[in-house]
Amino acid sequence: MGFGKRALYAIERDSESCTHCRICVRQCANGVYRLNPNTAKVTSDEAACVNCRRCVEFCPAGALAIRPALAETISNSFWTRQDLRAIQSQADSGGILLVGMGGGSSIPSYFDRMLLNASQVTNPSIDPLREPMELRTFLGRKPVRLELDEKGRPLGLPPQLELELPVLFSAMSFGSVSLNTVKALAAAAQSEQTCYNTGEGGLHRDLYPFGKNTICQVASGRFGVDIDYLNAGAAIEIKIGQGAKPGIGGHLPGEKVGDDVSETRMIPLGSDAISPAPHHDIYSIEDLRQLVFSLKEATVYAKPIIVKIAAVHNVAAIASGIARAGADIIAIDGCRGGTGAAPLRTREHVGIPIELALAAVDSRLRAEGIRGEVSLVAGGGIRHSADVVKAIALGADAVYIATSALIALGCRLCQKCYTGRCGWGIATQVPELVQRLDAEEGARRAANLLRAWKHEIKEMLGGMGINALESLRGNRLMLRGVGMSDNELRVLGIRAAGE
Ligand code: SF4
Ligand code: SF4
Repeated sequence: MGFGKRALYAIERDSESCTHCRICVRQCANGVYRLNPNTAKVTSDEAACVNCRRCVEFCPAGALAIRPALAETISNSFWTRQDLRAIQSQADSGGILLVGMGGGSSIPSYFDRMLLNASQVTNPSIDPLREPMELRTFLGRKPVRLELDEKGRPLGLPPQLELELPVLFSAMSFGSVSLNTVKALAAAAQSEQTCYNTGEGGLHRDLYPFGKNTICQVASGRFGVDIDYLNAGAAIEIKIGQGAKPGIGGHLPGEKVGDDVSETRMIPLGSDAISPAPHHDIYSIEDLRQLVFSLKEATVYAKPIIVKIAAVHNVAAIASGIARAGADIIAIDGCRGGTGAAPLRTREHVGIPIELALAAVDSRLRAEGIRGEVSLVAGGGIRHSADVVKAIALGADAVYIATSALIALGCRLCQKCYTGRCGWGIATQVPELVQRLDAEEGARRAANLLRAWKHEIKEMLGGMGINALESLRGNRLMLRGVGMSDNELRVLGIRAAGE
């Protein structure tokens, strides 16, 4: 959070072990450390520290520790330190408070209050090491009846995204993150046979070979969108909203628009890339339908069209309209979704949790008899494989992950992405910082994460006596709630634990 120049972190340097080797001076992306030429010792400007922990991890003597600064203001249970600092910062700057990444709000996690079932005497569990388990996932419209040709092959099957596991990398644009980050995700998606998403940043020329694993996003700014871009990927996503900042557009400052970003986004070098909050040609479901079918026409009906929305109060009715507008997949992004930069108050106070949104949408589409018309992808707060399994039991066909993927690449969740000076080479375009992330090593780590989750998903499915993900989809009997009100249980469509 932007809290002016007041130090949020205290830097503790063990004077006995520090050799003043200056590695921390070189590693800190925020200029916290300086070598005092008179004393040949390193000094610190704590107010500039964002707690990215790069110095701590690179200090060869283990001499550094970063801790929260002691409260310099009096607070109480209502007026917290954060509230006081936010007011001080805004009084200093007159600006809105920004934050990067997701989470952090005090809204309870419903994933943490849901528990999965496991087989005991009846319906015995399945050992995934000995028996095949099917995680293959097809995203797209599922026809009620299949027409077959003379060889028994389906005729006119709507286009599908075929994935080897129900996890995709969510939209992260080149510009908001480094090219090495996008390359790492693209390569991991390719090796694990899933997809990554361009975000609204267009497709860098180096990424065209990953086309089969690419979802090409069309956002309100239409950056980087032309017919080659639309044809390059496996699916097209129309971004209407995102969970971290529902109702708000995007803004990539001109200083991040270097040669490569400018070419990829098809905008002038150094110009601000502003995505308006609404698409200026979409003011109704009918308008959305026109864009869905324009994109289908342009790509000869060969690619599924995703419509991504933020989880908001009437999300179920909106999703019903989107399904009827011809979308093949609806992506719903909950309020814990991450982003490079969002107004703090919007991120923490707008939208609803993905668990409630997903359950409401799945129930509504089933009640209207159109659940098979679309697949649902849930995002915004998926932290681990158990969240994936619970999301699928609530009705998702697959999930989007972003923050967890970036953590796998090395993100330390300092939430300062919007400064463009990510010490770990992720949310930055500064050449010397970008090179800190090795794209191949990043791809290996992101692929490992997906493989590990795959094993865990199979374990949990086997424990429930289920050998195919399809049998878990929307199977809310596999979930029980703890510590929830009757209304929360009703919206989630699950029973209380013990029932
Ligand atoms: S910003 Fe990061 S590298 Fe710099 S002092 Fe703080 S924790 Fe260390
Ligand atoms: S991507 Fe970088 S700047 Fe953003 S939260 Fe992670 S470590 Fe911090």
